[in-house]
Amino acid sequence: MAQQREHAEEHARLEEQLSSIDSQLHEQGASIEGDEVEVSVDEGFADSAHATAERSELISHMEQLHAHRAEVWAALERLDAGVYGICERCGDEIGPERLEAMPAARLCMSCKQAEAVA
Ligand SMILES: [Zn+2]
Repeated sequence: MAQQREHAEEHARLEEQLSSIDSQLHEQGASIEGDEVEVSVDEGFADSAHATAERSELISHMEQLHAHRAEVWAALERLDAGVYGICERCGDEIGPERLEAMPAARLCMSCKQAEAVA
């Protein structure tokens, strides 16, 4: 069944994204506590203003990664529920090119643009 195989491919792609996000978080010394991102920083390092700026930059980067991780999770759930690739706004198909570029996309291109303008 073609449909099944496509799903397996999407699943593998999303899982891959998830583990790459996890390893990036891990490399930066970040851990996820529920919805919070914890970043552990050297005590001595944390004193200077430079380190503070760097730390907040790191945290915002980690938060982006974390938000992206949640999106990928949600996409996996939609995949399991059989509604993956369907626009949440208009119910149309999102389209393979867009999903290829952005596996966690929730909206089709035109809804995405409409939302960006709104
Ligand atoms: Zn749409």
